[in-house]
Amino acid sequence: MSSDVRELYQQVIVDHSKRPRNLRPLEGANRKVEGYNPLCGDKVTIYVKLENGVIADISFEGSGCAISTASASLLTESLKGKTLAEAEALFESFHNLLTGLEPADEAPKLGKLVVFSGVCDYPTRVKCATLAWHTLHAALSGEGEKVSTE
Ligand code: ZN
Repeated sequence: MSSDVRELYQQVIVDHSKRPRNLRPLEGANRKVEGYNPLCGDKVTIYVKLENGVIADISFEGSGCAISTASASLLTESLKGKTLAEAEALFESFHNLLTGLEPADEAPKLGKLVVFSGVCDYPTRVKCATLAWHTLHAALSGEGEKVSTE
């Protein structure tokens, strides 16, 4: 990754951490799951309004580091209007990107989420970036109301 690209990605993360999108409770949500990353102290609550297998609306609340906030913000932006199958596929690609299994240039479907590709160089921050996704996964699969990365 060139330093220009790295800087651009960094700017997107900073922007989303300072001005998170969809940061609010969601009226009419039929799924709500809380996630916690004890390593860093990040907390996130994901709200989803599922309609006929489609994410009709999605939002989050939370407090945490810049990476966890930006990740939740970009997650909500990326998933609105997606089907459950599309959301799960995106979760898998994102996870592979962060664990270095999927090179960024082979993940065009990730769109803006590719800005987190640099995080795989910082293993302790991977959980910050994936917290919202694990929480979302639990919300979509109905696997309980609380998630911890530990
Ligand atoms: Zn964090």
